[in-house]
Amino acid sequence: AGGGGGPAPDSGVQVVVRIRPPCRVEEEEDARAPDLCVRKTATNSVAIQGQDFTFDAVADEVSTQEDIFKLVGLPLVENCLSGFNSSIFAYGQTGSGKTYTMWGPLSALSEDSTCSERGLTPRVFEQLFSRIKEEQGKHEDKELTYHCIYNEQITDLLDPSPKSLQIREDVRTACVYVESLTKELVFTTKDVTQLLVKGLSNRRTGATSANADSSRSHCVFTCVIKSESKNLEDGSNSTRTSRINLVDLAGSERQKLTHAFGDRLKEAGNINRSLSQLGNLINILAEISQSGKQRHVPYRDSKLTFLLQESLGGNAKLAMICAVSPSQSCKSETLSTLRFAQRAK
Ligand code: ADP
Ligand code: MG
Repeated sequence: AGGGGGPAPDSGVQVVVRIRPPCRVEEEEDARAPDLCVRKTATNSVAIQGQDFTFDAVADEVSTQEDIFKLVGLPLVENCLSGFNSSIFAYGQTGSGKTYTMWGPLSALSEDSTCSERGLTPRVFEQLFSRIKEEQGKHEDKELTYHCIYNEQITDLLDPSPKSLQIREDVRTACVYVESLTKELVFTTKDVTQLLVKGLSNRRTGATSANADSSRSHCVFTCVIKSESKNLEDGSNSTRTSRINLVDLAGSERQKLTHAFGDRLKEAGNINRSLSQLGNLINILAEISQSGKQRHVPYRDSKLTFLLQESLGGNAKLAMICAVSPSQSCKSETLSTLRFAQRAK
């Protein structure tokens, strides 16, 4: 966890719902049944089938990548610079806009860093590097890792050669980490986007069977920032570590258990379980922050939450972007995403 200093952030979870624009077919179908589609009713609420839901903010089809960055990314960077761990999760069914929101289309991640479609991640790092420049090199090291968790197995997206990656816990510092995960130092936004593109293409080509389908794995892009500061009174140095986690979760649609068997059945169960465990955990953290009472937090229930435990509790800042499709054909998954989102508040 972050070591002291800076204002204590609001420890609640920021929940934002984003409705993606309809594609042409959806537009035509949905024009006939507007009540079956989710719609934004105020800056922070939506309605679907006569039910209303309220969140911290709702972004609809006209909101831009820049709007999402201002809403979620900017506060995250400031929080991180104050020494606190910060995470953004994208939750939602496959096709709802998670990947678009977190990274943006691949075409927007190449050298041309000003494309308006680039997602949260490149924007967060642009802001981070420019703020660090303002603070004149106070923040020394920025180290990136990029991995995905598929069926409770970890794959290194920066080095997909088959290796068995194990979670270790440093008994002295109580830090949880993935052993022999590739770490890359980054100095510019371009370094970051290059690694992001490398990881995304490794994920696509599925160099190992473990990342066969992006809709079924959680992708975690992490930056560890170590900053040194000099105590002006006695001249001593102290190091502070904070993390940014940008997480593109597996599709939240109910994985069909009916026709699955063997490995496929186990896998479907693992996806459903790890997402509901994340939901439970966020729910418990939100309750703790509201009531101030301590409770047991079940971090160890899944690899995703175990690995992120330092970034979830305590003074960590969490944002959950719940992506939904505008289409009536998705209404039951949309309802289930909105209920998940509501529980996180
Ligand atoms: P997911 O990662 O949740 O499966 P994607 O991010 O791949 O979904 O989005 C599905 C499709 O919708 C993609 O073709 C993507 O480019 C498009 N899309 C998603 N959100 C938006 C948006 N806000 N504006 C324009 N296109 C979007
Ligand atoms: Mg995706």
